[in-house]
Amino acid sequence: MNHIEEQCSSTEFTNWIEPIRKIAVHEDRVVLEVPNIFVQEYLLDNYREDLLVFLPVTPDGEPSIEFLIVAQETGTYKNVVLAVEEPPLGDLPTGSFTLNPLYRFETFIEGPSNQFVKSAAIGVATRPGKSYNPLFIHGGVGLGKTHLLHAIGHKLKEQNSRLRIYCITTEGFINDLVDNLRNKTLDKMKRFYRSLDVLLVDDIQFLQNRANFEEEFINTFEALIHQNRQIVITSDKPPTQLRLSERLIARMEWGLVANVDIPDLETRVAILQYKAEQKGLRLSQTIAFFIAEHIYHNVRQLEGAINRLNAYCKIRNLDITEETVETSLGELFHISSCKKISVENILRSVSTIFNVKVSELTSTTRSKHIALPRQVAMYMAKELINDSLMKLASAFGGKTHSTLLHAWKKISGQLMKDEALRKQIDMAKKSLEA
Ligand code: ADP
Ligand code: MG
Repeated sequence: MNHIEEQCSSTEFTNWIEPIRKIAVHEDRVVLEVPNIFVQEYLLDNYREDLLVFLPVTPDGEPSIEFLIVAQETGTYKNVVLAVEEPPLGDLPTGSFTLNPLYRFETFIEGPSNQFVKSAAIGVATRPGKSYNPLFIHGGVGLGKTHLLHAIGHKLKEQNSRLRIYCITTEGFINDLVDNLRNKTLDKMKRFYRSLDVLLVDDIQFLQNRANFEEEFINTFEALIHQNRQIVITSDKPPTQLRLSERLIARMEWGLVANVDIPDLETRVAILQYKAEQKGLRLSQTIAFFIAEHIYHNVRQLEGAINRLNAYCKIRNLDITEETVETSLGELFHISSCKKISVENILRSVSTIFNVKVSELTSTTRSKHIALPRQVAMYMAKELINDSLMKLASAFGGKTHSTLLHAWKKISGQLMKDEALRKQIDMAKKSLEA
């Protein structure tokens, strides 16, 4: 706690960290009480790496914490910026969500991977209901979707504090619905949602397989859109890849669909330097490049690296050098720290797992038993190697980038339904590390 207190601003500390209570410490786990799921997520999102330093670790490398969520009472939070300042119609629905004070446009580092989506988000925040409606933001984990969503909320609020903005996770929406159904207050909930000027919905993928909640979501959605009220939705996949009704998918594609991609090396360096500066840490250009070259899947990991490096060097009173970076972050570094992943390595491990020849994978054979492993290898290349699609594709015996993209899309889609395939790919990844 004391360590975390040093790391964050005092409002951040009061809002997020202070409400956490230690309930028990066992050899294999600690039990913490949190007021709601958001505090739990906040803790894991922002301090995972620090927690890993001194807490027991689960077999899959997560801090071993059991969270107990206390029944929510209103008014537990003193200083939280509520998206809606005055409850417009009676109480705020229970799933209300607060805007993270750190997630602003000013703190969002721009690069080719996110320029388009950032400017779309600014557009929506400047002219709500008038530019793109809905704005649908999708992309992989830890790439800044929630950050952008909250940034829209902050900017809207700054421009017009009377706007009724409501920011909610899809889980929160479902919980709201469940509570209101139970309390027979559905009408009140409907009135509340339909009175909003702006609805910000995070992680819509959690509506998948929840058909009975989807209906109410669509109704809310349509009611708002028809009155030109702005809706912004985030998701880990584009609309067409979500297992949701065609009706909802079509609605979500009405406005603008924009993607946040993995940042390129220069942007990762800029993010690292920005985050380090925020913590009062000096990172030389060389060190920033060194870290950014090894951590490339998402921004949350970059943040984790900075937190860990900061803790490591402060506790031991060490300077940040390539050596301290390697000892403190070594295990976070992607496999490439011991061996740079190349298309060749991937081809080799896929050929072993699927029992085909490397030469067959790079050939033009269209036979089915080759086509699948070939697509898997292409999928893995796009996922694991940070290089242009064109370069990657040419390493597959001169295929085009659209072939590679097609393979990636196909396998990504299949992975959701095909457990066996997922296992095979995991095995192929493991054999890369070996
Ligand atoms: P997602 O919702 O896509 O999983 P988040 O929005 O939670 O990702 O982002 C993960 C972390 O990375 C957050 O702390 C966020 O502030 C940070 N982050 C992501 N992208 C950027 C960026 N471009 N500039 C600065 N910080 C970023
Ligand atoms: Mg998110």
